[in-house]
Amino acid sequence: MGLITCECAYTFRTIVSPHPDGYRLISEQEIDRMRETGMSGDDVLSEIFLKAIEAYKCSACGRLLLGLDADRWTSYRREPDQ
Ligand SMILES: [Zn+2]
Repeated sequence: MGLITCECAYTFRTIVSPHPDGYRLISEQEIDRMRETGMSGDDVLSEIFLKAIEAYKCSACGRLLLGLDADRWTSYRREPDQ
């Protein structure tokens, strides 16, 4: 727990916060909902951390790792230019 290993073998220690390679991905519908309810400041930040998908960009290979499932990470890598 607290560790994610990229396909390139680089290991993230996710216990660090804010993580230098960490991102939060949130849907446009959630953003709209927050705006419509008049949320602001710390309430918005709390919602983002509750609703957002965790993401990390591997500083070794550039893959983007997304926590789409509770116990599994999915990685994406830029397609080579054609
Ligand atoms: Zn990597």
